[in-house]
Amino acid sequence: MAETNFVDYVKIYCTSGNGGAGVVSWRREKHVPLGGPAGGDGGRGGHIILRGNAQQWTLLDLKYRKFIKAEHGQPGQSSKKQGRGGADEVLEVPVGVIAKDAETDQVLAEITEDGQEVILLQGGRGGLGNWHFRTSTNQSPDYAQPGEPGQERAIVLELKLLADVGLVGLPNAGKSTLLSVVSAAKPEIADYPFTTLVPNLGLVRYRDGGSFVMADIPGIIEGASQGKGLGTRFLRHIERNAVLLLLIPIVEPTAEGLTTPTDIEAQYALLRAELEAYDPWLLHKPHLVALTKADLAQPDLVARLPTEVAGTPTVVISAVANQGIDRLLDRLWALLQTEAAPLSEK
Ligand code: GDP
Ligand code: MG
Repeated sequence: MAETNFVDYVKIYCTSGNGGAGVVSWRREKHVPLGGPAGGDGGRGGHIILRGNAQQWTLLDLKYRKFIKAEHGQPGQSSKKQGRGGADEVLEVPVGVIAKDAETDQVLAEITEDGQEVILLQGGRGGLGNWHFRTSTNQSPDYAQPGEPGQERAIVLELKLLADVGLVGLPNAGKSTLLSVVSAAKPEIADYPFTTLVPNLGLVRYRDGGSFVMADIPGIIEGASQGKGLGTRFLRHIERNAVLLLLIPIVEPTAEGLTTPTDIEAQYALLRAELEAYDPWLLHKPHLVALTKADLAQPDLVARLPTEVAGTPTVVISAVANQGIDRLLDRLWALLQTEAAPLSEK
């Protein structure tokens, strides 16, 4: 089985840098026998920072970097010179990442935008040099502050992919093919066995610069016998207001190697029943039906296809012949723009 590049969960051990110590030192000048206190402050320890990067889509890199440390701050220097700050450790993560304290499960940060930066662990403050401690009664303090220690924490990063359109269909309905035709970026659109958690997902570029994420939802139908766990874990990648696109091929192969028109109503009912068995919540999402593989059917059959199934509108497409694809994207886009109106309650 191919090693997966898609990682949506990592546990990392982070340590921010210690602050540098403040120092005790004295001014030394020509002709000044005993200079005043002039010990510089320590530099700040490096922070551990999360930064959103829209070009990334996996936490794979961090899976192999379990221990993450930012640099310590340098001690202060003479002549009130501050020590150099420790370099921050900036972790670039995909948009949609949530950081939690691994022990308490408390949410520490959520990355929702490209370029967004959040300090996960503060570096320790640098200690103050001795010149700060001069008082009227003590002009020569030989005391300086130590630097503040950095923080150490086990952190869990989880990636929510926020798919806008989830594809649902029986095996061979044409989900992977559609995804490969409409998506510009195709992170790993290989044919993964559904037992892996790798979602087939792609970024669909819509006209005028819009875009949305379309994802195959593994484990809902195809992996039903593989246990609910996989798909349930995947479901957190589906946006609350996502649209489900149900794919139904308009012809099916027969045992004799021919094709026969699909009973569309029956297959629609089957898909709905599977969704409901999986999680009734899914039925409350807006649905659209794509009648796929139009190129395989006789034109008169295509002409007679229903414009809706049990109240759900249909769009006829052929991913292979590139028919109806623009219209499908228009319909999906329109649905995504409207408030997620729940479909029927039935
Ligand atoms: P999935 O199991 O739902 O992901 O289905 P796939 O995308 O893997 O497609 C299953 C089979 O149907 C493949 O052999 C595809 O080449 C074929 N297929 C998918 N879409 C079309 C289509 O629009 N027209 C034709 N003729 N074949 C298609
Ligand atoms: Mg597939």
